[in-house]
Amino acid sequence: MLPNRKVSFRFWILKIIFAVTASVLLNYFELESTESWLYDLRVRLTPTTETSNIFELVLINEDSFKEKQKFPSISDLQKNLEKILLAEPRAIMITFSPQDLEGLDSEKLQFARRFEGEKNLYFTRDELRPENEFQTSFFPAPFENLPVGFAPKTHDRKSFAKDGVTRRLILSYQGQAMLTKQLAMLWNPELVNESKLNGVFDFFGANQTYVDFRPSGSYSKNNFHEVVNLPIEKWTNKIVILGFDAQRKFDDYIMTPHSRQATYMHLPEMQANMIDTLVQGTWPVRFSETLNFLLTFLISLITIHGVLVLRPSQGLILLGGLVLGYTLWTWGLFAAFRWWWPLAHPLIAVFLCYYFFIPYRLIMENRKSWEYYQKNQLLKQVEELKTNFISMMSHDLKTPIARIQGMTDVIQKDASPISHQQREALDTIKNSSDELLKFINSILNYAKMQSDGVELHKTAKDINQIIEDVLTKHEFLARVKKIKFHAELEPLFPIHVDPDLVRQILSNLIENAIKYSPEETQIKINSQEKDGFVCIQVQDHGGGIPEDELPHVFSQFFRSKNAKISPIKGSGLGLHLAKYFTELHGGELFVESTYGKGSTFTVKLPSQ
Ligand code: ADP
Repeated sequence: MLPNRKVSFRFWILKIIFAVTASVLLNYFELESTESWLYDLRVRLTPTTETSNIFELVLINEDSFKEKQKFPSISDLQKNLEKILLAEPRAIMITFSPQDLEGLDSEKLQFARRFEGEKNLYFTRDELRPENEFQTSFFPAPFENLPVGFAPKTHDRKSFAKDGVTRRLILSYQGQAMLTKQLAMLWNPELVNESKLNGVFDFFGANQTYVDFRPSGSYSKNNFHEVVNLPIEKWTNKIVILGFDAQRKFDDYIMTPHSRQATYMHLPEMQANMIDTLVQGTWPVRFSETLNFLLTFLISLITIHGVLVLRPSQGLILLGGLVLGYTLWTWGLFAAFRWWWPLAHPLIAVFLCYYFFIPYRLIMENRKSWEYYQKNQLLKQVEELKTNFISMMSHDLKTPIARIQGMTDVIQKDASPISHQQREALDTIKNSSDELLKFINSILNYAKMQSDGVELHKTAKDINQIIEDVLTKHEFLARVKKIKFHAELEPLFPIHVDPDLVRQILSNLIENAIKYSPEETQIKINSQEKDGFVCIQVQDHGGGIPEDELPHVFSQFFRSKNAKISPIKGSGLGLHLAKYFTELHGGELFVESTYGKGSTFTVKLPSQ
């Protein structure tokens, strides 16, 4: 394994360990109320399921009170029940106790006798009784034999979210089916086998599901005092649920995910919602703790990775996308399948991991930038030293060389006779000092270019004039190697250039052509104006440049392998400087070369 692979593998292991730790720590907190709050939000933002048209609610409300300045009596209830029973409803559920209504003892007795053992009529009991206590009566005399049905409401008071909201319904308790389930089974027989139902869970011996609540007011309701006037068919085959909506006591109401107002939904509507959930089989299915842990882990891992590895802007986009994407995903699952995926732990994991690992990342970044800063400072100092040293050295060398050249000239021009050997020695001194001066000039130009750049001093100049000057200057060198210049110069208009720099560019190209060509060859120089550029080409028939070296010839200090082993001298700076000077004019310098056949260097200078 490569070392960096090893490092990144180790880094991943570390990230996984961090993510597991974060998930374990987070899952230690139940966060049930946050989770339920987010669940309620999903419920409110999701279109509600259509109601099944099998419920009729009959409500004793303020209007019933206003009518007679008192609540209906037991005999009013008897009258209404008799009327409804005539229509053969599927069931009648009465969500209050018979003793809640007033009446004479004789009326109460009559009521009790009339409905004793009545089929399909139930006084609902909001309680769970163990089987052995089931037979004891629920109401005081004379109502002790009235039929009852268990249809308790649930509150998240002491368990779950602990916010008092009703979210669950009970199907059965210790194997005893609740009235809610019994009635729902008339439409949905599949409810019989609770263990096969997805989403049913056990809580202290009670099998439960979540309720698919509609907002309050979704079910058809009727006023209690108007029952006598309503058409009788209204009740046929329906579940008729009677109850109070008179803001009489808190127990008559529940809070649901749709609202936390204390009097949000009355008991008849709650029963309708519960039975309807079972009839349609649309109860929300809550996913397990294991999934919660896995998701928290995955999201922690992505967050940690985002914070530690990505650039801050990318990390922020990733985390924002993660929070938004995951929230939308869970909402989509709820809207489409009524699946309740955990949201609280995974979302909190994002923020926790973000705030935990950001300082760590900042410290690392700070350390890195401090190191970079230090290195940079050091490099700057070294660079400064180097530049100073080079220019100082070059300047100090130039004066003695100029002196050597001057003295050589004086001796050469002196008429006194000197031997042949002495003349040769003088020529060698002259050539060597020329070479040294050229080398120093290159280094000086390079140092200038590296520090504050070279300034252009432009004047209008005929390029052909410069070419001719340069050729004249190099004639002697060419003659030594019996090389002939062949110039084809088209007449040109003067253009604005720095004549000194153009002279240096062309000198370098022509000098190279002479240096790298064998004896008795020809060097072609031509100039022409084309497409707004003055093009100068220097073509030689020398050894050419190997293909693999072509891309490097303009690099600083580059010398070809052949040049390095040959006696031809050079600094490797000439072409680099020539290119730099050309580009300073807004032009181009490039080369075409065939190894073994020769090279053509082209300089293009803008004519304007
Ligand atoms: P040098 O001082 O070595 O000549 P240059 O920057 O002028 O430095 O050139 C870089 C290298 O490019 C040379 O070492 C040589 O290998 C190659 N080169 C330049 N001009 C020619 C040419 N006309 N023919 C063949 N090779 C050349």
